[in-house]
Formats: sequence, C-alpha cells, structure tokens
Amino acid sequence: MTEIHLTNTMTGRKEAFKASKRALWGLGKPLVGMYHCGPTVYNYAHIGNLRAYVFADTLKRLFKASGYSVKQVINITDVGHLTSDADTGEDKMEKAKAREHKSAWDIAKFYTDAFFGDLAALNVDVSGTKFPRATDFIKEQIALVKTLERKGFTYRTSDGIYFDTFRFSGYGKLGKVDVKGLREGERIGVNEEKKNATDFALWKFSLRAGTESAGKRDMEWKSPWGVGFPGWHIECSAMAASLLGTPVDIHTGGIDHIPVHHNNEIAQSEAATGHEFARVWMHSAFVNIDGGKMAKSEGNFITLQTLAERGYSPMAYRYFLLGARYSTPMNFTWDALAAAATAYGRLQTALHELPEGGRASNEYWNRAVAFVADDLDTPKALALCWDALKDDKLSPADKKATLAKIDSLLGIMRDETATEGTALPADVERLANERAAARTAKDWAKSDALRDEIAKLGYEVKDTPEGQKVSKR
Ligand code: AMP
Ligand code: ZN
Repeated sequence: MTEIHLTNTMTGRKEAFKASKRALWGLGKPLVGMYHCGPTVYNYAHIGNLRAYVFADTLKRLFKASGYSVKQVINITDVGHLTSDADTGEDKMEKAKAREHKSAWDIAKFYTDAFFGDLAALNVDVSGTKFPRATDFIKEQIALVKTLERKGFTYRTSDGIYFDTFRFSGYGKLGKVDVKGLREGERIGVNEEKKNATDFALWKFSLRAGTESAGKRDMEWKSPWGVGFPGWHIECSAMAASLLGTPVDIHTGGIDHIPVHHNNEIAQSEAATGHEFARVWMHSAFVNIDGGKMAKSEGNFITLQTLAERGYSPMAYRYFLLGARYSTPMNFTWDALAAAATAYGRLQTALHELPEGGRASNEYWNRAVAFVADDLDTPKALALCWDALKDDKLSPADKKATLAKIDSLLGIMRDETATEGTALPADVERLANERAAARTAKDWAKSDALRDEIAKLGYEVKDTPEGQKVSKR
C-alpha cells in the first residue's frame, strides 16, 4: 500500500498518514474519516471557495485509490455564521434575507442546491459523502454546550453563552496564534462583555421584544438558556463527533479558518471530550484575483456561472486548480484560465482520438499515485498525463486506459460534451448545472423539466453512471 504523506498544520510538518481504525466492512480495509468545513449558503460559492472542495475531492480520490474505506463529511452552514468570524455583525443568512426578500430557509435551500450543482459541474465525487446541515443538528449542538457548561468552560452575557478561552490551556495551538497579543491588543469593536477578546459565542439569544431585532429572525430554537441560535463554530464540533466520532482522522478547510474557526472548534471539542479532536489538519490556500482577495463580502467574486458566460467549462477551472498544489496560493487571471482551458481541451481531444480496449500501465499508475500521495502533488500528476500521451512505448489503446486510470485520482477527463472539449453555450451549461443539482437533491420532476428546456435549445441530455452528458443534437 502506498504510504501517504500530508502536511499537518498542527505540527507544521509533512507526516506519514496512519489510519487509526479499520472498517468493519470491506474486508477490514483501513478507514479514514474526513471532515471538511463547508459553505455558508447565503450566496453562490465563488471560484475561490470551490478550491476547498476540489482539494477535499483530491484527498478522497487518493484514499480510495490507495485502498482505504473513506467516510467524508462536508457540512452546510445554514445558520449562525455572522458577518465577522469573531461573533459580531449580522447573521449572514439574515442579511441575505433582507437582500432577496425570501425566508432564511428558502435562501439556504436555494444556495445549497446551487452548491451541489457546482460540485457536480466540477466533477467532485460525492458518492457516499454526507452533507449535514447545521439546522438539522441543533439538539447535538445544545447537548455539547450543556457539557461545556457543566465542565465550567462557559459564561453568560446579555447576548449569549460564551466559551471562556482562558480556561482552555491549549487555546490557539493550531497555527501558533499569538493569543496573548490578541488579548492585549485592539479592543475597539469587541464585545465589552466578553472576558477575553478570543472568547466566542456558543449560543446566541434572539433579541426579543423592545429591541431592534424583535421578531426578525426566521431561524431560532428553544434552549436551556433561552430562545436563540447556535454560534457558528459549535456546528462543526457537534457534527464531526456525531457523524465521524473523534478524533477525526483529517480535518480541512481554507487557510482563513486556522486562527479563529478551527482553533475554536478544537477548544470546544477538546474541552468537552478531554481528548484530541482531529489527528491531521490540512488547509487549502486562497485563489486571489488580480493579486487581491476574492471574497463574497468584497463583491468581486467570480462564480462558475461567470466562467460559463465567458465560454469556459467548469472542468477547465478544475484543470487550472490542479495545476498548483492545494497549499500554494493561486492568482486567477483570465489568461491563466484560458491557458488551462486550452490544455484541458487538447487533453480531451487527444483522448477522443485514442482507441478503447487497452491496458493501463502499472508504471505510470504507480508514479501518479506516488505524486498525489506526496502531499497531493497534482501538478506533477497532471504533467505525467502528458508524458504518457507522448510515450511511444505505450500503444494508443494502452495510453487511453492509462489516462483513464490516472483520472480516478484527478477527475479531469470527464467526457462532458460531445463537442470535443469546447464549452457548452452559457444557457445550456447553466440549465445542465441546475439539472445536476436537481438530481443530487433527487428532485426528479425538476430534472425532467430541465431536460425539456435543454432540448428546446437543441441539446440532448443522457444520464450515464458517470453523470449526465450533454451533447448537440
Ligand atoms: P464560506 O462559504 O465563506 O464559509 O467559505 C467556504 C470555504 O472557502 C472555506 O473553506 C474558506 O476558507 C474558503 N475560501 C474563502 N475564500 C477563499 C478564496 N478566495 N480562495 C480559496 N478559498 C477560499
Ligand atoms: Zn468548521
């Protein structure tokens, strides 16, 4: 079995991965449980956000190819994430409600479906992956806060129940956060009732009669402390423990989660259980745009729909992402995407031209696995695909079989269109994405209606074991 090496943010080192458990099924395969912090569904995911899930997908594909039984959880944050990660500002869902004049529940449903559509469009393998919603785990979150309360880690302010980070001795250990500096530093804008600047909300009260928020919240629940809603961080601790058990083998997220969100997850989980929360922490670097930050709050974000409008397939973007290791910051430019789209198109065309019926080369396969097992070195694995294509020692049919096998790691060779690597028209692509989302949500009536709409534009949809295929009629 290939040894997998991953860079652990907790130690700052690249380490050999060791499974802690074996699956009860599947002939005692080693088991890996992975938890990935998922989207806050108050808006479309921008292409930077989507890097986090292509990264999670690459991990899953690697473990599957290396003989592991994989349990994967990507949570859907549909409540409690405030506009500032430090528990100030509005709930992002409530903010979207005001923007779109819909209920917070409808907003969450709409953008969750859009997220599933994005994953399908990017060929993310969702088989067996669980996508729990924070609002479905309120009971578990309340139980966790009660445990923390019983153990003396909480205190009450006028707006909620807070975690006292001073009482958790290892607070800030992930990424070696300068906790002292934070606590002694800037206090402007910080909730004055908090004992320490680093303390965070576990449960927030709905502000009621006589206050400016009276009656405005769509999402609120009864709790032992009063009607309210969970803080953002507690959902991940509760859902990871419920669905995977702790310690979780691998926990991931974008690099921005290290200082606050992940240190808070660690504090509440380890304070409650007394043992380690996650064995390996991994973080994907940002996709920047024109050298600056791409963020929903900046209003400069690009979605897969933006790419489709300019004629780029989501798969070209996947190819672009895999061209850098997950931990390397990337700069998105239209020129860089165009270069990736050209390479992606050439690869698709070359594949179409190769005959079926060959055998995959073990040598190439082993090299591809070794590259990806080296802390997900996808750029080297991509380059290897081109080497295989050019290798005269492989017959054309064997090349095709070899690339198909390597693709179980990369997921870039999906034959998504019959138009040989050229993108679908934007409106067809959008309807196809919506249909993929409807199918993920098992909404068959919507899926059939969308097929008819796509047909009206002159395209045919076929459902295959690899997903839907859209081609010109
Ligand atoms: P959100 O939906 O805002 O909770 O973010 C979803 C994921 O995207 C998180 O893992 C973030 O760390 C990550 N993320 C946010 N902005 C970027 C960016 N510009 N590039 C890459 N990842 C990002
Ligand atoms: Zn999380």
